[in-house]
Amino acid sequence: MKNNSQIAIVLVVLLSVVNSLSQSKLPIIYSPQYNISLFGIQKLHPFDTKKYKKVYKYIKTNCGIDENRFYCPEKVSESDIRLVHTGSYLESLKKSEVIARIGQMPPLKFVPNRLLQKRVLVPMKYGTGGTILGAELALQYGWAINLSGGYHHAKADAGSGFSYFADIPIAAMKLWQKDSTLKIMIIDLDAHQGNGYESIFMDDKRVVVMDVYNCQIYPRDGPARIHIKYDFPILQQTADAEYLNLLTDTISVILSKEQPGLIIYNAGTDIFQKDPLGRLSVSEAGIIQRDQLVFREALDRHVPVMMLLSGGYSRQSAGIIGRSIENILKNVIKVPGLKTRPNGKI
Ligand SMILES: [Zn+2]
Repeated sequence: MKNNSQIAIVLVVLLSVVNSLSQSKLPIIYSPQYNISLFGIQKLHPFDTKKYKKVYKYIKTNCGIDENRFYCPEKVSESDIRLVHTGSYLESLKKSEVIARIGQMPPLKFVPNRLLQKRVLVPMKYGTGGTILGAELALQYGWAINLSGGYHHAKADAGSGFSYFADIPIAAMKLWQKDSTLKIMIIDLDAHQGNGYESIFMDDKRVVVMDVYNCQIYPRDGPARIHIKYDFPILQQTADAEYLNLLTDTISVILSKEQPGLIIYNAGTDIFQKDPLGRLSVSEAGIIQRDQLVFREALDRHVPVMMLLSGGYSRQSAGIIGRSIENILKNVIKVPGLKTRPNGKI
């Protein structure tokens, strides 16, 4: 009898541990404020401004993650924005035409600035807050995913390419306030060159950049390119085999050599074959393999990694991101207690 009651106690303890694990917070960051809504005008841009919400819903439903297990960020503060951006640039955002130009939506110049601040810049400030929080959580948990961010064209004194705030440099500055020697490696696998942070970090040896990008499209920024230590310009229509071979041959070697304290992974899905802007030819399976490779390399080395969504302009983008994150959570990180699919496949 005594043995039976001891077994029962052990079972109850085990069940409560499993239960608490399946209810604990996960370092996935999302805010309903991420999404941009501007009376339909946002549809003039190929960017799916509701992409964030779609990815969030996908993960919630398909992984069975309760909404209170996600982290919700604060909006980045004005003083934190000023850690990176110049006063004159921030002042220029008070002109609707400047917001319109950065967002590549000319008709926005006719919209009152107050409205643009609220409907365009505030979501970007929440996204930037998400990157700051994600960087802190990655150091704490070993990984984090911000379901926005990766605005990699924003420079200290200018925004461009739908990037208003340099979220990666701002997050780095915040981390360096606590540990000024932290070495950060940016692995940028968005289809576009990350010329914003490359220009900001030009003289900062604490940042190492690996950038794989289509060199035949925007921004073709030669001066910013000088800061890319591991520079991999690729040609239009590069497809799965060549793309994935390049990553397999390089990421492992680079990480072994650099041994960073944090990886910021810019996981743009505009490398997808149907993306109207990226003009590369990688399939959905290729993107899932890419993300898995980066996470596996980071986790195997116990290097914290934060993933940012960055660009992705096809209708399929949100679904691809959702399935890729589902794969990372279930098959790479192996988060306990997630909902499984009947056939086990994603
Ligand atoms: Zn891009």
